[in-house]
Amino acid sequence: MRARIHRGAHEVGGNCIELEARAQRIVLDIGHPITTAPGEDVPLPGVAGFDGSDDSLVGIVISHPHPDHFGLLPKVSESVPRYIGEAAADVLREAAFFSPFGLDVKPAGFLRHRQTIEIGPFRITPFLNDHSAFDAYSLLIDAEGRRLFYTGDIRAHGRKAGIFEELLRKPPENLDVLLMEGTHIRAESNCTERGASEKDVEDACVETFKSTEGMVLAMFSPQNIDRLVSMYRACVRSGRDLVVDLYAAAIAKATGRATIPQADWDRVSVYLPKSQKAKIIQAQAFERTDAVKPHRIYPEELVERRSELVTLFRGSMARELQQIGCLGGARVVWSMWHGYLRNDPGSKLTEFLEREEIPMVSHHASGHAYVPDLQRLVAALAPKRVVPIHSFAGDRFAEFFPRVDRRTDGEWWEV
Ligand SMILES: [Zn+2]
Repeated sequence: MRARIHRGAHEVGGNCIELEARAQRIVLDIGHPITTAPGEDVPLPGVAGFDGSDDSLVGIVISHPHPDHFGLLPKVSESVPRYIGEAAADVLREAAFFSPFGLDVKPAGFLRHRQTIEIGPFRITPFLNDHSAFDAYSLLIDAEGRRLFYTGDIRAHGRKAGIFEELLRKPPENLDVLLMEGTHIRAESNCTERGASEKDVEDACVETFKSTEGMVLAMFSPQNIDRLVSMYRACVRSGRDLVVDLYAAAIAKATGRATIPQADWDRVSVYLPKSQKAKIIQAQAFERTDAVKPHRIYPEELVERRSELVTLFRGSMARELQQIGCLGGARVVWSMWHGYLRNDPGSKLTEFLEREEIPMVSHHASGHAYVPDLQRLVAALAPKRVVPIHSFAGDRFAEFFPRVDRRTDGEWWEV
């Protein structure tokens, strides 16, 4: 089996890996680079058959539903079979109605935890993992007597930390290559410290929710289901109710998991921001509002109960909530990557909050494993070689892991 990384050997995101065995090929992930703005045109990696003209390309496997792993898929011919987790596909299809971060993948087959599927000469065993995207997998690829394990994006400090520990207890054996993400291996950091966990986020939110006089405006991605759960739990612990928007309610439903906070739960209600109302009217998609009708919350109640509420918030709602009059004593909890604050909508929001004298605190945990956990992973999987991916500092892997074999984008190598 041969491999080549098309993108990801030198950067975080935009992952695309091509594997070849017995003259057939498979692609793992086809991401939009995070160094390029969403929507900006990015050419497809140079894989023969993305246009459907080459049958030796037997499939594309998407490890998880984040744009830096699936974002270029719409450019690929639909005749190339796609594989992804079933709940991940459902989440992306639902998201497509509300956001550019969605897609109807039209999968040919689904990834399931430790259930091997065969695609051409490749035997693929997905391992459900702990990441900030829902239904995310690491992938074991067997072909021509060689074994490669691709971590995808992985962490050990989220709500599914147990699944990471299971991987360490019951690892796949005899790995030739561990293709491992290293988001936290960076040029400017000593890399060895663990940052906040999802549980830390929940605990910090409890304190903030308790000490805020008015409404808490929580800013997190509706597709970050772990964070939705942390927010809900912090609400319960601090005696507040959670107000989600229609997008978040639809995503929670699409997960198909009764254990994830749903619109019909006691302490959850659904607010329809103006932008989503307009979208519903434009698409005549009234079944979407009908589905949450008994659980909706309206402006008067937002004002009246503002000190009892944590509202899922985004910059586009700022003026609307100000006009409703529910921002007195409010506080923003920023619960996303800090880098998003630097771009345009982020900096406009910061200006608005400063003008309105609304304070902001940040409670966030990374979607990616801290280096000590990656070291535990390498020790448990004991691969013959570790190949860096999804890192801006692949050159530093050798400081932390044994048997590192660094590869460059576009180069073929033997697994
Ligand atoms: Zn990623």
